[in-house]
Amino acid sequence: MSFVAKRRLFCPGPTPVPFEVVQATSDVNVYHRTEEFYRIALDCRVKLGAFFGQHRDRPLILTSSGTGAMEAAVQNFTAANDAVITINGGKFGERWMKMLSAYQCQVATLTVPWGQSPDVTELTKLMNQTANVRAVFLQANETSTGVAFPIKELALAIRAAAPHALIVVDAISGLVAQEVNLEGWDLDVVLSGSQKGFGLPPGLSFIAVSERGWNHLSNRPRFYFDLARERKEQETGATAWTPATTLILGLHAALQSLHKVGPDFCIAHHKRLADACRSTAEPLGLKLFAESHHSNSLTAFALPEGFEGGKLVKRLRERFGAIFAGGQDHMKGKMLRMAHLGFTDELDLVSGIAALELVLTEMRGSKTAGAGVAAAVSSLAKH
Ligand SMILES: *Cc1c(COP(=O)(O)O)cnc(C)c1O
Repeated sequence: MSFVAKRRLFCPGPTPVPFEVVQATSDVNVYHRTEEFYRIALDCRVKLGAFFGQHRDRPLILTSSGTGAMEAAVQNFTAANDAVITINGGKFGERWMKMLSAYQCQVATLTVPWGQSPDVTELTKLMNQTANVRAVFLQANETSTGVAFPIKELALAIRAAAPHALIVVDAISGLVAQEVNLEGWDLDVVLSGSQKGFGLPPGLSFIAVSERGWNHLSNRPRFYFDLARERKEQETGATAWTPATTLILGLHAALQSLHKVGPDFCIAHHKRLADACRSTAEPLGLKLFAESHHSNSLTAFALPEGFEGGKLVKRLRERFGAIFAGGQDHMKGKMLRMAHLGFTDELDLVSGIAALELVLTEMRGSKTAGAGVAAAVSSLAKH
């Protein structure tokens, strides 16, 4: 028997939702075509901009999960038969590939072994081998492997090889935890979702588009995700369709909290938690799955050979109400992913490590524990 007092989310989305956000989302009797609501939506767009590195224009708010914003990018910025490049270093890179193929683009893929970061020289080589690249699609943070891609460096290489190609970044699990700077790094489309770094329930996505992007809209048929139409409506805070009003009220509350400390602090906070989380791998007898470019958003632990990963996730959930994520595809049962993303604080991290350590100890039939928690706490004390 165990007494579980509450659910604790350590999965890489949805992430914990703070009480003031929950409270804000419970205001259900709102009409979206009012000046009052427009002001809130506009303020959200301005505050979101700070996290996207977009200040001249503002990110658009869409009602969909993150994948909807990915689809919006594909519909608005590619046409059938366009040559596009994707970087596939995990489940989400694969999603770009599948989606672009479904939309009949000619997809050339840079395949990156899981756990590694894309090699700039390899990317340049593929760019040079591919004629008329319309756009390059990649992740800021590959959630299935815990690798954060070096977007600034990759974007420089893409620009050098194909000056007019659009750079489209899925920053769904990257934003708030890592820098992604649309204007500063000359990116064209950066998109994100509500249930990762922004600490909301799922249901909203965000998409920021550069001037170059707006000048390269494609002529595909589209309707719900017609970004030019959204842009025109959202200038005033209105939306083309009925938005998820309650989530926008929640977004406003979440962004107020995030804005108080600012994007730089948020990134430093996530780095600090990620450093502390990684420091527990060795004392816990685990390995880090990522070989380099460790994510600030989540840590992927590789489990020892023969260890029952499925059972570990299940026990964490049953014994502590602690929701971790396992591995996907060929890493199923062999990996444990722990997020430290969004409104996760130091004590959350320490409690997650404690839960993990207790379950590992139990599964190994041992009675000694504490080294993992000690590593986490001492890492936090140092930085
Ligand atoms: C979560 C996630 C998505 C998918 O978003 P949904 O909201 O589930 O549609 C896409 N890309 C990355 C990198 C993610 O982490």
